[in-house]
Amino acid sequence: MKKIKFQKPTGMHDILPEDQRYFEKIYSVCEKIVNFYGFKKIDTPVLESTDLYQKGTGMSTDIVQKQMFGLKTKGGDDLSLRPEFTPGVARAYLEHGMHSLPQPIKLYSTGPLFRYERPQAGRYRQFHQFNLEIFGDTSPAIDAQIIQIFYSILEELKIKKIAIEVNSIGDNQCRPYYKKLLVSYFRSKSSSLCTDCKRRLKENPLRVLDCKEEKCHAIISQAPQTINHLCADCHAHFKYVLEFLDEIQLPYRLNPHLVRGLDYYTKTVFEIVSESTEEEKAKGSLAGGGRYDLLIKLLGGEETPASGGALGIERVKSLLSPKEAKPSSYFNPSIFLAQLGSSAKIKSLKLLEEFRKNKIQVAESLGRDSLKAQFKIADKMKVKYTLLLGQKEVLEESIIVRDMKTGKQETIKFDKVVKEMKKKLKK
Ligand code: AMP
Repeated sequence: MKKIKFQKPTGMHDILPEDQRYFEKIYSVCEKIVNFYGFKKIDTPVLESTDLYQKGTGMSTDIVQKQMFGLKTKGGDDLSLRPEFTPGVARAYLEHGMHSLPQPIKLYSTGPLFRYERPQAGRYRQFHQFNLEIFGDTSPAIDAQIIQIFYSILEELKIKKIAIEVNSIGDNQCRPYYKKLLVSYFRSKSSSLCTDCKRRLKENPLRVLDCKEEKCHAIISQAPQTINHLCADCHAHFKYVLEFLDEIQLPYRLNPHLVRGLDYYTKTVFEIVSESTEEEKAKGSLAGGGRYDLLIKLLGGEETPASGGALGIERVKSLLSPKEAKPSSYFNPSIFLAQLGSSAKIKSLKLLEEFRKNKIQVAESLGRDSLKAQFKIADKMKVKYTLLLGQKEVLEESIIVRDMKTGKQETIKFDKVVKEMKKKLKK
């Protein structure tokens, strides 16, 4: 075979027709559940100003430092493909004055995200998320509710062996002191840390805690833990989150090393992970998020509490059983329209449109001329009726209806066919 010249970009993937049902299933379960909880959909542009992510996501994060796909427009604007939803949604919240509406504002988004990652199993450069944000609510119950929603989505999709990990990373009051403790601890061990952690120690010391390198693990396990150094407010908040989780009987565990990669998190952080196989564990979390009470102010708004999270669609898809993702019911016709000859083909186009307007699905194979080939397709599709339009029928303004089960055929008037088929399908 001749070698094809173009291939999809590294780390990106096509979602083929046979895979669409998995995505449809995941989105439909997500939307059904968040509609119940009063979330409204928001779509923001795939491109935002690079500044927004530098400020919102944070200059010291891996995302901004290494993973952004940026471009300069012809007009000289510096834009980036979104690596995550939150800064864009927060920008829209401010830009459209949603802060002056009754709070909280509950928003959800779906769509592609872009991160220049090292391609590996479960890690793409273009991937999809289902994202939630709640603005204007300080309550720890909100943090628990977000965790509960993602857990319920995974449960409803029958994803087995999942675990919730939670932690609190404090706020502006207590984090600076904790950071100091952490830096002094890691400095004393810095010669044994990996190169990335040596850099993180200078720029974003909390990130050392979630390093996946073997050589850093032993050092991290002895590091001071945030929850032992929370201020009274953060401590009380976290205690309530755990009480809420207990109350709704969610199986969670504390992970003192969970910090998540972004600068804007405060207080609660969480991840939902799969523990089905070692391979799945290695891919990383299925969902993650937390509270980010400082972001809106950072972007120029009033101090506004917020909490949110995102579910990775590709990661969930890889665990979804084919049984759970039934083929799309969008196109499941009971009628096949077979035609013979050019005038019949022309009439078929018009007839198909007539069926569409009457909301009756009809399959066809207008590109084929042989009747035998068309009948073969109709058989394969297991339709109830095949309509046959040949030269003779066109001249006589009629059409043949074949009952595929009994093999019985009848000729009916062409202009009555839609009405007749409607009746037959109702029986
Ligand atoms: P994050 O925005 O990093 O908190 O990620 C939220 C979720 O998105 C994760 O739990 C993953 O399921 C998914 N995710 C993040 N990065 C990738 C990626 N590069 N490829 C596929 N899924 C991802």
